[in-house]
Amino acid sequence: MSRYADFYRQSIDQRDAFWAEQAQLIDWQTPHQQVCDYSNPPFAKWFVGGTTNLCHNAVDRHLAGRATQPALVAISTETDTERSYTFAELHAEVQRMAAVLKALGVKKGDRVLIYMPMIAEAAFAMLACVRIGALHSVVFGGFAAGSLASRIEDAEPVAVVSADAGSRNGKVVPYKPLLDEAIALSKHKPSAVLLVNRGLAPMHLQPGRDHDWASLREQHLDTVVPCEWVESTHPSYTLYTSGTTGKPKGVQRDTGGYAVALAASMKHIFDAGPRAGDSAAPLSDSDGPGTRETRGAGVFFATSDIGWVVGHSYIVYGPLIAGMTTIMYEGLPTRPDAGVWWSIVEKYQVTHMFSAPTAVRVLKKQDPAYLAQYNVKSLKALWLAGEPLDEPTAQWISHALQVPIIDNYWQTETGWPILTLANGVEPQTTRFGSPGKAMYGYDVKLIDESTGQELTGPDQKGVVAIEGPLPPGCMQTVWRDDARFVNTYWKSIPGRLIYSTFDWGIRDADGYHFILGRTDDVINVAGHRLGTREIEESISAHPNIAEVAVVGIADALKGQVAIAFAVARDASALVDDAARLRLEGEVMKQVDGLLGAVARPARVYFVTVLPKTRSGKLLRRALQAVAERRDPGDLTTMEDPAALQQVKELVGE
Ligand code: ATP
Ligand code: MG
Repeated sequence: MSRYADFYRQSIDQRDAFWAEQAQLIDWQTPHQQVCDYSNPPFAKWFVGGTTNLCHNAVDRHLAGRATQPALVAISTETDTERSYTFAELHAEVQRMAAVLKALGVKKGDRVLIYMPMIAEAAFAMLACVRIGALHSVVFGGFAAGSLASRIEDAEPVAVVSADAGSRNGKVVPYKPLLDEAIALSKHKPSAVLLVNRGLAPMHLQPGRDHDWASLREQHLDTVVPCEWVESTHPSYTLYTSGTTGKPKGVQRDTGGYAVALAASMKHIFDAGPRAGDSAAPLSDSDGPGTRETRGAGVFFATSDIGWVVGHSYIVYGPLIAGMTTIMYEGLPTRPDAGVWWSIVEKYQVTHMFSAPTAVRVLKKQDPAYLAQYNVKSLKALWLAGEPLDEPTAQWISHALQVPIIDNYWQTETGWPILTLANGVEPQTTRFGSPGKAMYGYDVKLIDESTGQELTGPDQKGVVAIEGPLPPGCMQTVWRDDARFVNTYWKSIPGRLIYSTFDWGIRDADGYHFILGRTDDVINVAGHRLGTREIEESISAHPNIAEVAVVGIADALKGQVAIAFAVARDASALVDDAARLRLEGEVMKQVDGLLGAVARPARVYFVTVLPKTRSGKLLRRALQAVAERRDPGDLTTMEDPAALQQVKELVGE
């Protein structure tokens, strides 16, 4: 058996022994008495009896060995600023923030809603919350007042931490008026609002409720706030899913399980953090000039946002737990030009980069010369997650960077990858189109939707499901709604209690999985079940297709047919109707050749932009509704309202 296969088997067959060993990767105040309590399925409790603190593991623990190493670098190409904090400085800032939150009345178990742009204070606030045992609930900055209000009502925060404004594409986006409006709309009123004034937009502070961070910080420059040791099962935060398929779910996560899961993922999946013999060791003088800053555990650059799960796990907690330098980036990947990310990689000698296929597709539309200007040799690999990674996009970025491109598949619910390659355990080769193998701890099954039977043979299509207990780090429940947790996730397969990802997949003989789309996106054309993803993949192989979304719409004859909405790389191929028809014909022929005529879309419409969520995910549900001339439903998480307008015009409203 290969090293990884053996490692994986242990994690499933000797679950408690496996995770007890992983638990040693973090510091505990008191050790656990029981590794996993699964006496009340599907609710799993990890490291029962143990007490720890996330902030201690992310910050304080590193003071002994790496106090002067940069911990957090906040780069903004919106305000042209770069701020760097060593572990010692981060420790001081987090204590100031914690002291201020306490002064504002925040206690253990209270919620603090964080509605912030990508600035260092956002990370301070998250770390300060978990330091004192309060739960943070980060809401993506720039969500409109309505979305924010519903999240305030759900979390019932004692305090809100926010800022005067964010900035996007050089334009100031004021946050304070949105926050005021959201609080007015919400039935729950937070008693305190803490505001970071970046000097971008004027703010009116409401006396008694609103407080200025800079002045309160001054009052607490030297206040010592020790870490509050909490039960392993004490919730650390709540976070909403992206809302791609409907009403977002409030994911609640624990403390100890999450810390262990992240520490383990940094080691086994990202092959990062202190190596043997390097464990938090002080940098010695013999390291020589120029190497001091980047020696040690490496530099992690995740291009996500703290409003999403990737931001929680791999901008803030994961890299810091591993003693790495983490980079926080505010700005677009294309401003001032499409080379900006690679300039950061070169300047900070980034070793690990984490982004999303949607961002790579944005860069792919730009001149590749931007990338060639920079030396990106420090990179070990680029990890991509959030959406299916189509082969042409993977090939393009792999060729441009000359580093391994590693797809990883997971969900807000799980907090860390379900499927990928654990290169820290055993280096494995990437298979384009596949996010890889089941990760240790995840008992991944493919289930036949109608019979509930497990599909054990290779290349059979089924729902990707996970046998309980979910491993450490995964959601404990839906915030304040245990029934929704059970009913939404664990009851969809008839006759068995098993976690459904609501994604549809296939596994080859070597254990590599392929995600074929969401279960909602499976279409049935004259009795053939097809994943929209498969059709998209075949269309995006056409050289002039930059991006494509396929949805199934009702058809009197065939049950359903596929409809494609595509963005052309070269718009000149669409100058007139004849040209458009030619490209449409080429795309159809391409699908015929790769998948067969059953999968051929009935129409290929060309648009300039596809409807996406604020996290960059395709809103197929909205596309499908509009294509079927139905109401697209809740669009509060949508990025660009104009995107659906084009679609409406094309399909003839
Ligand atoms: P909601 O659950 O509210 O509808 P969402 O599912 O988009 O929103 P997330 O938790 O952000 O919320 O996204 C997880 C989903 O993203 C997965 O279930 C899967 O559909 C998709 N996904 C994530 N990573 C990958 C990947 N590497 N390949 C294919 N699909 C992926
Ligand atoms: Mg989901």
